[in-house]
Amino acid sequence: MPERYADIVLPLAREPFTFAVGAEACPALGTAVAVPLGRTKILTGIVWRIHGQRPDVKTLKPVGEVLYGGMPLLTERQMALWEWIAEYYMCTLGEVMRAALPALMKPSGRDTASFGEEVFRPRRELFLSLASALRDPARLAEASALLHRAPRQRAALEELVSALGSDLAGEVPRRMLGADRPMLAALERRGYVTLTERVPDRDGRRETFRLPVLTASQEAALASVGRQFADRETVLLYGVTGSGKTEIYMHLIARTLLRGEDVLLLVPEIVLTSQLVERMERTFGDRVTVYHSRLTDRRRTETYLRLCRSEGGELVLGARSSLFLPLKKLGLVVVDEEHDPSYKQAEPAPRYHARDCAVVAARLLGARTLLGSATPSLESWLNARAGKYGLVRLDERYGDARPPEIRISDTLRAVKRGERHSHFNNLLLDAIAQRLERGEQTILYQNRRGFAPYVACRTCGWTARCPDCNVTLTYHKQTRRLECHYCGHTAPVPTYCPDCRVTEAEPMGFGTEKIELEVARLFPQARAVRLDRDSVTSERAFQAIVRGFARREWDVLVGTQMVTKGFDFEGVTLVGILNADNMLNNPDFRASERAFQQMMQVAGRAGRRERPGEVVIQTAEPDHPVIRQVAAGDYEGMALQQLAEREAFFYPPYARLVALTLRHRDAPLLGRAAVELASRLRGRFGRRVNGPVRPAVDKIRGEYLLGVQLRIECGASFARARKVLREVLAATFGQAEYKSVTVVVNVDPQ
Ligand code: ADP
Ligand code: ZN
Ligand code: ZN
Repeated sequence: MPERYADIVLPLAREPFTFAVGAEACPALGTAVAVPLGRTKILTGIVWRIHGQRPDVKTLKPVGEVLYGGMPLLTERQMALWEWIAEYYMCTLGEVMRAALPALMKPSGRDTASFGEEVFRPRRELFLSLASALRDPARLAEASALLHRAPRQRAALEELVSALGSDLAGEVPRRMLGADRPMLAALERRGYVTLTERVPDRDGRRETFRLPVLTASQEAALASVGRQFADRETVLLYGVTGSGKTEIYMHLIARTLLRGEDVLLLVPEIVLTSQLVERMERTFGDRVTVYHSRLTDRRRTETYLRLCRSEGGELVLGARSSLFLPLKKLGLVVVDEEHDPSYKQAEPAPRYHARDCAVVAARLLGARTLLGSATPSLESWLNARAGKYGLVRLDERYGDARPPEIRISDTLRAVKRGERHSHFNNLLLDAIAQRLERGEQTILYQNRRGFAPYVACRTCGWTARCPDCNVTLTYHKQTRRLECHYCGHTAPVPTYCPDCRVTEAEPMGFGTEKIELEVARLFPQARAVRLDRDSVTSERAFQAIVRGFARREWDVLVGTQMVTKGFDFEGVTLVGILNADNMLNNPDFRASERAFQQMMQVAGRAGRRERPGEVVIQTAEPDHPVIRQVAAGDYEGMALQQLAEREAFFYPPYARLVALTLRHRDAPLLGRAAVELASRLRGRFGRRVNGPVRPAVDKIRGEYLLGVQLRIECGASFARARKVLREVLAATFGQAEYKSVTVVVNVDPQ
């Protein structure tokens, strides 16, 4: 028998390594193996290819132990997805492996004691059943009547009964119920219910789901999605905020699960979508698996290995990395808020866009993809317009909820008329006061955290800057320090300007922290709380604030982007956007699209029930086209105008962008490298090359940055362009002089 060789992917930014394998015990593709690297190190690798070509090296080591009992960690189609990602985003398979597998599944060390370990205890869950005495309707009614003094216990009992449906002798997982644990414990003490904790039995999973009854227009939208899936792989569900996209997802998910297939529901940032998780758990109970990077590694490993063995019928709800889970019977992928920029991983490689990868994954597995948004990305919108994707619209809000009334408040005019107090125009102040009087809630949005984005001297113009990054330092009042939002550097606030030593250094501009304090000063009776990266250091802190706000323990919620996503609070009837201008005046070509999306998203939090919502947008440019489009709720107008501009200036979605960023401590050397790269690229790509350009922040952590951009028109072969780009990069940075320059390749930068 001829010698066999295995190409093994290791979690490194390197091409696969080749090892010898015994001809008789050849591991299957996609299995994990422990392989020796160097003298003493052992790494976990994935068997990628078995072949007969001996590589050109002196000593070839034999591949080590096969892990996880030889169970493949990847299917053939998942391997195809990894390959697509590595090729498209120009990284190595090893880098894809780093993102795809939890850390515990790719250990390295001197011995293999902890390799391929499966000592994970399966998770236990709490189940509820009705005491046998109460399974008789008359006795149940009696028991319920006895609870008239304990309305919450009574509600919990009724919820349990309704969840049990016709099978009163059955069991319900705790997470399908809204009632909290003390309430359930109280019912148990009365002998009404029995609580049991045990490992969920996968065979006994429920086959019926309590789905919401759809309205006529939701029903029509659902039917349309179904019809379009017949001949299209991807459908865009364009539905205004509060129209019930989630309810449509639920119906599609239920159908897919009942066919025995898996569903992947992608959300932008899982902690910000806890309300969605709760809704899904209440409907789908133990079918739901939540997966994201903030879970412990052990939990993620358990989930990965459990899914490797699953027979299908799983609902995974997760952030972008759940794309890599081994769902073998994937039938449906739902990408909620598909326009959200956090689907793109910026750092480190693979710099992948989970929405785009989801579409590819679904295609590879023969599944369908539903993209949902109230403000679709222009990429998806164009695909839908061009007929590449199906398009389904949902134009009205659920129930009696009407779209909020959007009012534009001119900041400059307010200043002139003396109608501005600190950062609030009178219009917004009056609106807040009105809400406080009526006991309704307000959300205030400001897209900068901290107290003041910079500190400056009014006399000489000095500003506090980070010594290692070319940015101003943000003032945080709570900690009384200046902080760099790029590298985390902090410094004390100087009392006098360090340059002229005459004047005090003054905080300029405003962030969320300042708004919170201003609200407290202007409305001493208001209970205000802040939601941003400084006030929320853990998932628990986040949940505490969100739950408290839902229970109306707070009147005003001040926050960054965190408050724009998915929140559904009954009490909110006012949304204030404090400063629309810093969104509009971003130099990025997507600034207008993003500003529109952010404003519509946060506006969508107001008036989601009977009481009408109002949105006040403060801006110095009330006539800016985007402001007018937001005021009119005119997504299509925005899309039409932006697409025309993108086409004229040759930007996505009419061209594909590759952003190359070069970094080095030595500015002149970096400059030479960038000039050489740009000129070599021009030799091959001509006018498609832009740069070198200095990015807005051109120094981070002591390294200088320069950018070169490549724009490939959509008609041309992007695969060919990437091949040429790889050659040019190898030729340029293969030279000894430039070896130390760091090059970051970002395909489809956001
Ligand atoms: P979207 O995801 O489009 O923003 P949601 O699905 O969150 O909208 O719906 C908005 C609100 O309306 C939610 O509180 C939801 O429970 C409610 N709702 C929407 N459709 C229905 C329905 N068919 N039955 C009951 N409630 C619904
Ligand atoms: Zn000064
Ligand atoms: Zn810094």
